[in-house]
Amino acid sequence: MEREDLLLIPGPTMIPPDVRAALAAPPVGHRSRQFTEMIEEITGGLKKVFQTEGDVFVFTATGTGAMEASLVNTLSPGDRVVVVSNGVFGERFASMAEALGLEAERVRFTPGEAATPGVVEEYLGQHPGAKAVLVTHNETSTGVTNDVAAIAEVARRHGALTIVDAVSGLAAIDLRTDAWGLDVVISGSQKAFMLPPGLSFVSVGQRAWEMHGSARLPRFYWDFSRMKQSLEKGQTPWTPNVCLFNGLRAALRRILEEGLESVFQRHARVAQLVRTKMKAMGLELFADEEHASNSVTAVKAPEGVDVREMLRYIQDRYGILLAGGQGELRGKIFRIAHVGCVSEREVFAAVGAIEDYLASGRTGQ
Ligand SMILES: *Cc1c(COP(=O)(O)O)cnc(C)c1O
Repeated sequence: MEREDLLLIPGPTMIPPDVRAALAAPPVGHRSRQFTEMIEEITGGLKKVFQTEGDVFVFTATGTGAMEASLVNTLSPGDRVVVVSNGVFGERFASMAEALGLEAERVRFTPGEAATPGVVEEYLGQHPGAKAVLVTHNETSTGVTNDVAAIAEVARRHGALTIVDAVSGLAAIDLRTDAWGLDVVISGSQKAFMLPPGLSFVSVGQRAWEMHGSARLPRFYWDFSRMKQSLEKGQTPWTPNVCLFNGLRAALRRILEEGLESVFQRHARVAQLVRTKMKAMGLELFADEEHASNSVTAVKAPEGVDVREMLRYIQDRYGILLAGGQGELRGKIFRIAHVGCVSEREVFAAVGAIEDYLASGRTGQ
């Protein structure tokens, strides 16, 4: 019999039974009344999760697609953007901006540390005229949560939009789109939303709409105006993944039934447990604990441990999938994701498996 792995990687994450059942339901027509009812409920639910009264759109695309949408809808060729970068996803946003013909100025921070709003402010002063600040809410590659509220305040003072990649943070860690003045916020289906990959969400605030009016980067599939026009009729401009939409409705019901605040508290509790257990095992955390993420924990690989071998052992023997490091952190850290449908139970399993590997005597081979 095929075994189902426990997915403790930062996406895709585990899918709870009610969401699976919804995903397995027969597809509905995307121009049908059923779809319209569904997208209306979904849009209302997403607004609650994004904590916004503004627009929220759903794209049939992964998070990276919605990141691209956020840029092509608000900016023009040659525009200067300041990209806050303290890991792989900050770098992705910067490379994307460059690929689209924007002038991307990276303000880099040491991986494992959070971006300092004061430094971002100084940088904006030195690079005047920036149209937007791009920032990662939760840097998945290092397990760090950035203070997007403070960074947005700085951006606003300099007349720049704040565009937030919240793919691995939204619906796990508090993020207040309207209260913090976040102009565009992006998330995706396969992390805290407990769904397979394939949908992404983007909120668009008033200032972003104003920029949209004069933004000249080419766009078609991603066009917010087309999305808005269609949504007013309870539709999407292109054929959406209707099965994932059905799953999304179930996931949102689940999140809202638990209550956003309780969801955040559960993630905080589980993350604290992971950090405590790792330290108790004598392992060292990679991220500055003051800014440690509540959705993913990065742990330094102990001296002599081959991370790839450790992860393979843990998956083969126990059916638990953990993540390694990305980019320059490959081989140096491993990561435990605790986002979405997680509780203490999964953490205890992972802790036991790691302990077993470290005690197995394979270390240093
Ligand atoms: C997962 C993730 C993404 C999106 O990646 P996709 O593979 O396109 O879904 C973007 N940003 C962050 C911070 C992420 O963790």
